[in-house]
Amino acid sequence: MTLFLRTHGPDECSGPFCVIHNPSDHPLNDAPLHWRADKGVMERICPHGIGHDDPDDIAHRARVGRESSGVHGCDGCCWKEENE
Ligand SMILES: [Zn+2]
Ligand SMILES: [Zn+2]
Ligand SMILES: [Zn+2]
Repeated sequence: MTLFLRTHGPDECSGPFCVIHNPSDHPLNDAPLHWRADKGVMERICPHGIGHDDPDDIAHRARVGRESSGVHGCDGCCWKEENE
């Protein structure tokens, strides 16, 4: 579980929130992280095994000019407050 830690150091955070160092208050901010090397994005794995683009990583990518759609196979866990 050291792969994602090599993305950048705490002094290289691009903004107030960071997927690794300071997650914002979003529904999956305590879900396990998964680095998608093929997409170059950080995902959160919801309790159903679905990978969701982390909103803090989407914001980070926008700040560093590496914007991507953020489109992912979503079951709603990254935006629902509660999930049954
Ligand atoms: Zn950071
Ligand atoms: Zn889910
Ligand atoms: Zn999602």
